Amino acid sequence: MHLELRGITKRFPGVVANDAVDLVVEPGQVHGLLGENGAGKSTLMNILYGLYRADEGEILVDGQPLELDGPGDAIAAGIGMVHQHFMLVPVFTVAENILLGVERTHQLGRLDRARSSREVRELAERSGLPVDPDAIVEDLAVGVQQRVEILKALYRDARLLILDEPTAVLTPQEADDLFEAIRGFTAEGRSVIFISHKLREHRAIADRISVLRRGRIVGTADPRTATEQELANLMVGRPVELVVDKPRAQPQDIVLDVTNLVVQDLAGTTLVDDVNFEVRRGEIVAVAGVEGNGQTPLVRALTGLETILSGDVTVSGVSVTGRTRKDVLRAGVGHVPEDRAHDGLVADFSVAENLVLNLWDAEPFAKHATLQFREIDAHAKRLVEAYDVRTPSTATPAGSLSGGNQQKLVVAREFDRPIDLLVASQPTRGVDVGSIEYIHRQLVAKRDQGTAVLLVSSELDEVLALADRVAVMFHGRLVGPFPMPVSKEAVGRMMAGADPDEVLSGEPR
Ligand code: ADP
Ligand code: MG
Repeated sequence: MHLELRGITKRFPGVVANDAVDLVVEPGQVHGLLGENGAGKSTLMNILYGLYRADEGEILVDGQPLELDGPGDAIAAGIGMVHQHFMLVPVFTVAENILLGVERTHQLGRLDRARSSREVRELAERSGLPVDPDAIVEDLAVGVQQRVEILKALYRDARLLILDEPTAVLTPQEADDLFEAIRGFTAEGRSVIFISHKLREHRAIADRISVLRRGRIVGTADPRTATEQELANLMVGRPVELVVDKPRAQPQDIVLDVTNLVVQDLAGTTLVDDVNFEVRRGEIVAVAGVEGNGQTPLVRALTGLETILSGDVTVSGVSVTGRTRKDVLRAGVGHVPEDRAHDGLVADFSVAENLVLNLWDAEPFAKHATLQFREIDAHAKRLVEAYDVRTPSTATPAGSLSGGNQQKLVVAREFDRPIDLLVASQPTRGVDVGSIEYIHRQLVAKRDQGTAVLLVSSELDEVLALADRVAVMFHGRLVGPFPMPVSKEAVGRMMAGADPDEVLSGEPR
């Protein structure tokens, strides 16, 4: 499909989400749409899919103006969209979801299940998106649900497929599989609009990249020649540091000391298997690993969210084993949790309330059992300013902020308290480049103020950029921490379970 958007403008109260956007997508092309959170990417795609009506501008498909009164018109014109939040019926099977509205029926209207199932299986195989047609959608992993969404669009013969932040819910391996499938679609002449704020992904998959900033197209680039630095600067609108400057660490006394830590799940499966390490004041110890190798239960155990079966965790010489989360936080531990929506924020509470979560019942925020609203609000205003949290006001519910701003809110609260140990788990997940730079700088600053920092991240680049010592988790066991430098390749091999002695003996040290 040849698609052209001309002068698309969309206003929401108080914001111009799309400002005279021009965009051309060629047949068989993967067109990357790059932009920070809030740049207007989803809005533009919702217009193209008929969900929103543009205030101005027109859409041309193969040179013909396209009038859209809803997604039905877009689908009929050969446009398919996979949203950031899936729109599947959880209790239906894969085949039922894919055929919803276009069901195969026998004469007299009986559903032809066998045929539906077979058709879906064939389509899935042909498209490089394997799924079981008879599986119930809610039982499937997120990455597989995404395949169902894509298949649904392909089944309706989408000639242009819009993928809105598809990799946000995928592991690096799953993202590679998706890219492979995308290459298959374009080989068949389909066009794809690929949305992401990750530069590396655009360089891996896009034939052409358009950069959107504050509703405007600020540039179009060729991924073969544009550098990540150029793209980042274009996206953010100022020169950004992709790798933060980090002076040499000055490690001091031990703050976190973990000995023989064992965590099991309710079924008795060992999730954290006899883990030993320590983190000193003034250093960043980073834990790398493919997700699901015990990092999550390790962090939860260290921060009072998970029961410890055996072993001991001490912070500044005091055991916090078996203590409540509140006790742990009060012992001088800051925690940026992996699941910010669940463990980090209360969506219905205001920005100000979230900034005193776990602190509100003590001075200066409460005196004689009375909340000090003026203190709470002044505190919030100061942090919102210092951490550049984009929010209409400190009274806004935290849940209505963008993901990146929610993350900055948690980071602001946890970094601002006087703490001895900072546990940061996937601190930049779902966060755009400008904010990543900011959070990385703050982590290093925290370290240099004499905090012990434990960073857990499945982003290998992040680990390598920030670690003073690096550890790797594999099948619940932890190897290291090893002093940096350790090569990316070596960490990658340990992430796949290779013996560290063997891997590191080959390293220039
Ligand atoms: P992106 O997908 O690039 O993160 P969006 O298109 O979601 O950005 O948002 C662009 C801007 O439009 C943001 O400022 C956002 O708050 C605003 N916006 C998006 N959808 C709506 C809506 N339905 N009502 C009001 N404002 C909206
Ligand atoms: Mg979006």
